[in-house]
Amino acid sequence: MRVRKLCGYCKQAPREDREVDRHTNQHLVPIGATTLWRRSDDSHILYPRLLGNESPASHLGPDSTAVAMGTSEPDFKGTFHITIIGAGLAGLVAAIALAKSGYKVTILERDSELREVRRAYTTKDTPTFTKAFLQWGAGIQIPSNCAKVLREVGILNQVRARSTQPRTHSVLSYKSGATLSKQDMIPIIETAFGAPHLVIHRAVFQKVLVQQVETLPAINIQLGAILDPTLSDFGRGSICFSIDGNETKEVTTDLIIGADGERSMCREILLGRPDPPKPSGYVAYRLLIEGSKILESPETSLHDLVNDPGVNVWQGPESHAVSYMLDGILNLVLFKPSASSSSGASSLKPELVSGEELRSQFVEWEPRIQALLGLVVDCIKWEILETEELKEWVHPDGHFVLMGDSAHAMLPFLYA
Ligand SMILES: Cc1cc2nc3c(=O)[nH]c(=O)nc-3n(C[C@H](O)[C@H](O)[C@H](O)COP(=O)(O)OP(=O)(O)OC[C@H]3O[C@@H](n4cnc5c(N)ncnc54)[C@H](O)[C@@H]3O)c2cc1C
Repeated sequence: MRVRKLCGYCKQAPREDREVDRHTNQHLVPIGATTLWRRSDDSHILYPRLLGNESPASHLGPDSTAVAMGTSEPDFKGTFHITIIGAGLAGLVAAIALAKSGYKVTILERDSELREVRRAYTTKDTPTFTKAFLQWGAGIQIPSNCAKVLREVGILNQVRARSTQPRTHSVLSYKSGATLSKQDMIPIIETAFGAPHLVIHRAVFQKVLVQQVETLPAINIQLGAILDPTLSDFGRGSICFSIDGNETKEVTTDLIIGADGERSMCREILLGRPDPPKPSGYVAYRLLIEGSKILESPETSLHDLVNDPGVNVWQGPESHAVSYMLDGILNLVLFKPSASSSSGASSLKPELVSGEELRSQFVEWEPRIQALLGLVVDCIKWEILETEELKEWVHPDGHFVLMGDSAHAMLPFLYA
């Protein structure tokens, strides 16, 4: 027995071959592989049965007008093979969601080790503040909407256990340091939006995700996988790749999910042409400073940043800085217009810059910023890249879809 409802978009009863999107109430028409659907407004949606063994009715929402139709759900779980390109945040979360739902998943990751995780972890299960970790590290904010996704995937508790929950959110003047606004976040955020706002180090986040992946036998991660786009035919589900320079092999899969980040090969395969990301006109200086070092500083006005952890946003002209405490370290990221914004994307690799160069960029900023930057020996400068909006994230043949930054890289401060 299959339960269907009236389409909230056209108010008609769905046809036999139509499904309804539980979020928009619009008709979904199957295209290509059985997991890809087209909405009534012609946009696409990846619509697998993500969440375990729910009945179709549970996707329809409590407020729908449900009618019974006499078809049965095709049983392809377990034999339906999904290959995800890239073991970044998007690829790992998608793999966990799909495997928990019963699908067979392979992740093909280009790097022969997950570099960010390696920089943070030596032999212990807690991150160590090595030089590389402090230079290359970065925090990530997980706002409530993202925390809800993690809850749906069944991993919010694990992520939360390794995260910090900021107590306040403050907006400050870049020049005087005056507080322009201050908002309590606990418990308001969780009460209002139904999930917490968390901050976590990216490597810790990735490690938690990898640990989850390791508990799921349906997922196979292949590191060091080098794709050959000339031999592959993603629209057909065919992927050619080699491992560590060995012989190229071809696998055919039911669905390919391209999750290979902003410098995405998958995106170019979908488009059928080069499409390198372009400079957005901003650079980010990303810093980690040990909390103990800040507390030793004679600049006592810094101590509250450690002792009373919150998200602080300093607003300046065309620039801003964000700080928050992770587990024992202060994450500080400073955004400025980029001097090299007109140069080509190929030269836009992360660059190590000295503390002097960093400080010279923020001489007019308030004393606490000066004092924090005074603690920095060097840091990485990141050119912030953007990609143009794509009309389609799905290959017309229906076996290939993009997600994460490969589909929609954008300025990191657009989330708020
Ligand atoms: C300064 C800054 C601050 C940010 N802050 C936040 C924040 O607070 N909160 C937030 O939600 N987001 C933030 N973001 C954005 C966030 O980091 C990205 O959206 C997110 O990391 C994208 O995840 P992804 O999995 O799509 O890509 P990535 O994390 O980049 O992962 C891509 C993976 O694919 C692999 N790969 C690449 N090419 C290939 C290939 N050809 N074959 C196989 N594998 C390949 C890579 O090695 C990598 O493992 C920030 C970004 C920046 C720059």
